[in-house]
Amino acid sequence: MRRDISLYVFALMISLMSLASCGTSEGNTGEQELPLFVKAETNTSPPVVTEQTINPIVMDSSITDDYLRGKFVPAKHADFIEVEIKHASRKGMFLRKDTYDAFLRMTETAKKDGVNFTIKSATRNFSAQKVIWEGKWNGTRLLEGKENAKKKYPVGKDRALKILEYSSMPGTSRHHWGTDFDLNAFTNSYFEKGKGLKEYEWLKAHAAEYGFCQPYTPKGTERPDGYNEEKWHWSYLPVALKLTQQYQLRLDNKLVRGFEGSETAAEIDVVGKYVLGISGTCL
Ligand SMILES: [Zn+2]
Repeated sequence: MRRDISLYVFALMISLMSLASCGTSEGNTGEQELPLFVKAETNTSPPVVTEQTINPIVMDSSITDDYLRGKFVPAKHADFIEVEIKHASRKGMFLRKDTYDAFLRMTETAKKDGVNFTIKSATRNFSAQKVIWEGKWNGTRLLEGKENAKKKYPVGKDRALKILEYSSMPGTSRHHWGTDFDLNAFTNSYFEKGKGLKEYEWLKAHAAEYGFCQPYTPKGTERPDGYNEEKWHWSYLPVALKLTQQYQLRLDNKLVRGFEGSETAAEIDVVGKYVLGISGTCL
């Protein structure tokens, strides 16, 4: 325990030193900037390998594995609050209070610029995601409103990959955390013209000022894996980053279970490709 605390203090000191050195490009030995996530080395000199450079993220026991996997009831959780109906498409949606406060500040400013946001989906816990996932898996809920996945994709892995274009496996969704929500419409095309385009342009210009990032940007070299682009999905980084790191540190594909089709999680590498397959702006 004492070692955990000293690791944490060390990581904090290093973070502060990195911040203080922002803007300097000379004399960087690579020892002062510890990455939050290990990325491919571009430096030709051999890296200094220490325990901290391999994994500077330390266990945060205030966050439980159940929380990370959405195994709680948001309506009964002290950190959550119901989204007021004037900001929501329906009653009964919940967010973390810190996330909702930031959303309120953002939407108030946006309104002055003639941009309005309606939350269409907020926290979905494990049980709620299980209903969505198993409905698609069993064909009772059609993909994009028209396709029966069970009939069209008899092989489990193929079916799971198709559903994963837009829906998470239970236990792996950022919507579990209370930090993420969907705004205004569930199609990218809505955000590509007229009112929707103005809303998206506003978000791209200003959301970061309130702590929000878009995890599911277009797939390509910057983001090769994970869900398709979702212009409507925004995440409160001050909290979500910590949760992403704890997820990476503590959970793996074997713990993605408890629903139909979960046997495909490991061969797909759902944690590596989907939980962590997010935009660099959210890391
Ligand atoms: Zn979403």
